[in-house]
Amino acid sequence: MSEAYAHVLTKFGEALHDRRYPLPDPGPGEVLLRLEVSGVCGSDVHQWQGLDPRVPLPLIPGHEGVGRVVATGGEARDVQGAKLAEGDRIAFNRGVSCMACRTCVVLRQPALCPHRWVYGITRSCQDPPHLVGCYSSHVLLARNVQTLCLDDDLSPVVAVTAGCSGATAAHCFEEVRPGFGSRVVIQGPGPIGAYCAAFAKASGAETIIVVGGTASRLRLCEELGATHTINRRETTVAERLEEILELTGGEGADAVYEAAGDQAAIAEGLKWLRTGGAYVSCGVAEPRGGLEIDFFHDIARRNVRLQGIWVSDMRHLLEAVRLVEGQPETFERLVDGRFRFEEANEALEAVAAREVSKAVLIHDGPS
Ligand SMILES: [Zn+2]
Ligand SMILES: [Zn+2]
Repeated sequence: MSEAYAHVLTKFGEALHDRRYPLPDPGPGEVLLRLEVSGVCGSDVHQWQGLDPRVPLPLIPGHEGVGRVVATGGEARDVQGAKLAEGDRIAFNRGVSCMACRTCVVLRQPALCPHRWVYGITRSCQDPPHLVGCYSSHVLLARNVQTLCLDDDLSPVVAVTAGCSGATAAHCFEEVRPGFGSRVVIQGPGPIGAYCAAFAKASGAETIIVVGGTASRLRLCEELGATHTINRRETTVAERLEEILELTGGEGADAVYEAAGDQAAIAEGLKWLRTGGAYVSCGVAEPRGGLEIDFFHDIARRNVRLQGIWVSDMRHLLEAVRLVEGQPETFERLVDGRFRFEEANEALEAVAAREVSKAVLIHDGPS
């Protein structure tokens, strides 16, 4: 194959167009990757609909991808020091930070780097090398992209979910790690919430309650670590509060993790915390306007910590990959929408209509 085949967003809200681009020769330190699986993220839908102010057009969407190395420009190594060779299966950190500014170097928070750019979100495919999004047969990884060699036994479908949802959940648990024997609640049983249930279990939490509206997703969360689930379609606000207090010894939870993407969930979830608890929100991914909360009663007087979470760093991706390696078959079931690569528009429509929770595009060709 001498050309890359990509789906390109040229006008918000309209179908993606097919485009061909020449395959570039990687420059020094660059890696040309042939994708095996591209993830369709909920945020891809927001970008497609024009709700994400970061997006330039034309754009090859997609920040989630796992594939095999086609060629490297000279020597390239992954973050663990492994030399990349043709045919290696790798994941990569979707965000590319400068690693030279105060945020990257002094504060050591490269995910928050003001110069960070993101595959499939913040760079147009207008100019060469074009291949800067994962709705494409190939991506060209710049020399400062952080990569991770994957075990050939790990399904690329599973690894793709670790790269965004899993890494974001890992970031939540780095900021607020529940202690051994602690009690936590997770709002939203989608991919991030399911990863949160697994991270909570791995952290030693004793009571792990997942609240959500889809019974099948709640069951999957139980397999990944939830000790209790509450279906919000079958309960009132008052009933949920009562049940959570009952399950947490009358005190409330040590930590609540919001992965629901719904601001109303935040006002409700704050009331589930014990005094001195922590509220961690990673689900609100695009501007939604203001939110009314009872700041005195729910935060100040109860000494509550409120933690926003934005994206993730390479170490979070690594943690998520290690997590899925322990239970790959269960994590594979997070993916409820498998589409052929050619069906990118159908996949976006299905995620937008909430017919599927996690979709992937599967590329043809040898794996
Ligand atoms: Zn994503
Ligand atoms: Zn920086």
